[in-house]
Amino acid sequence: LGARINGALQALSKESVIDSKAVDALLREICGALLESDVNVRLVHQLRENVKKQLNMDDLATSSNKRKVIQTSVYDELCRLVDPGVQPWVPRKGKQNVIMFVGLQGSGKTTSCTKLALYYKRKGMKVGLVCADTFRAGAFDQLKQNASRAHIPFYGSYSEADPVQIALEGVGKFRKDRFDLIIVDTSGRHKQETELFLEMEQIAAAVKPDNTVFVMDGTIGQAADAQARAFKESVDIGSIIITKMDGHAKGGGAISAVAATGSPIIFIGTGEHMHDLDRFSARPFISKMLGMGDLTGLVETVQDMQLDKNTDMMKNIAKGVFTLKDMRDQLQNILKMGPLGKIMGMMPGMSPEMMQGFDSDESSKKLRSYMCVFDSMTEKELASDGKIFEDEARLMRVARGSGVRLVEIQALLHQHRQFGQIVKKMGGPNGMLGKMNPQA
Ligand code: GDP
Ligand code: MG
Repeated sequence: LGARINGALQALSKESVIDSKAVDALLREICGALLESDVNVRLVHQLRENVKKQLNMDDLATSSNKRKVIQTSVYDELCRLVDPGVQPWVPRKGKQNVIMFVGLQGSGKTTSCTKLALYYKRKGMKVGLVCADTFRAGAFDQLKQNASRAHIPFYGSYSEADPVQIALEGVGKFRKDRFDLIIVDTSGRHKQETELFLEMEQIAAAVKPDNTVFVMDGTIGQAADAQARAFKESVDIGSIIITKMDGHAKGGGAISAVAATGSPIIFIGTGEHMHDLDRFSARPFISKMLGMGDLTGLVETVQDMQLDKNTDMMKNIAKGVFTLKDMRDQLQNILKMGPLGKIMGMMPGMSPEMMQGFDSDESSKKLRSYMCVFDSMTEKELASDGKIFEDEARLMRVARGSGVRLVEIQALLHQHRQFGQIVKKMGGPNGMLGKMNPQA
């Protein structure tokens, strides 16, 4: 998709005269590419109209960078489509929040339940999982296995056949034990059957969830629109999780889901493991979808970052200090931008030896597991230079909390020490940066 849009934009930039005909031709090309990316037909049509309305031909005629004006307009319009402008619901600690998961069978509910539970557990919440899927044999075993692996308390039954009854009991039990967050997994069936929707409504009426999460498979293509609409009609969808975005998903389905429900996407599933859950953010998502990694936009992002010298990290570096939190923030920025290998070299202060282990295809997986490690650290640990982890018990606690292997955590700390040494040389009163920036 990126290549095709890129081509269209490049062709446009070669045109010396930009008239409405040239813009029409470009938009036709871009819309064709969006359809191929599974964006819904109606939405593509709407997007085209919106972009046309917004583009001021006079501006375009005088602007020195016409290509950029149109690109930005299409990009903004796409971002608007995946952002319903609603603040996503978040559970509050100390309140007994109940979330219900709904979605078709195989969409990734059970997997995503565990991922979400683990996400909030790491934020210090007491989280419990309830298996209200009595339809599929083995459903309880699956949830039990996932939950046990993540050390998350669960509730379910092999003998009770009524999902409403189980949901009530499970939620009741966890409420009594003052859990912060109770997640109810439901059955999905094969298609949008009447019984499934009836069951969902009954469970919802019984447990009165604070939020209902609609889980949708990101690989279903144009079917996304009808599916999201069907669910929207019978449950009050509060948030959306799009799964399987690691595979062949083209992203267009996500746009349909938001358009059909008016609800925000909160996370995307990026793999089968319990850590493969990314917080959703419209701009990086659309960038990735368009393959903008190849476009000027990305380079600009990186340049903007280089210019941003007022962050805590830049101040720290000027002083010759590099905390674990500085490392986390740096890596997080990289993760947000998507295609890693390409941009690593542009990062401020990244030398080839520092990039070791980060420039392969495995890199974003590795980065994500690093994020889990950082999530399991306390503020005090994050603010430190890492020596604090000479304490074995501390190290073990982080390994347990993050589910990341000890050797990998040691590798992270080793890498941090290497960064730290370079920063020490660069910063401080006698360092390169200290001389450049005397007031720091
Ligand atoms: P459910 O029927 O809705 O509960 O779906 P499951 O959670 O059982 O998931 C169905 C299948 O999809 C399983 O094989 C999961 O491992 C897989 N799956 C779920 N989420 C993801 C994801 O984000 N990426 C990939 N690659 N597979 C996923
Ligand atoms: Mg399931």
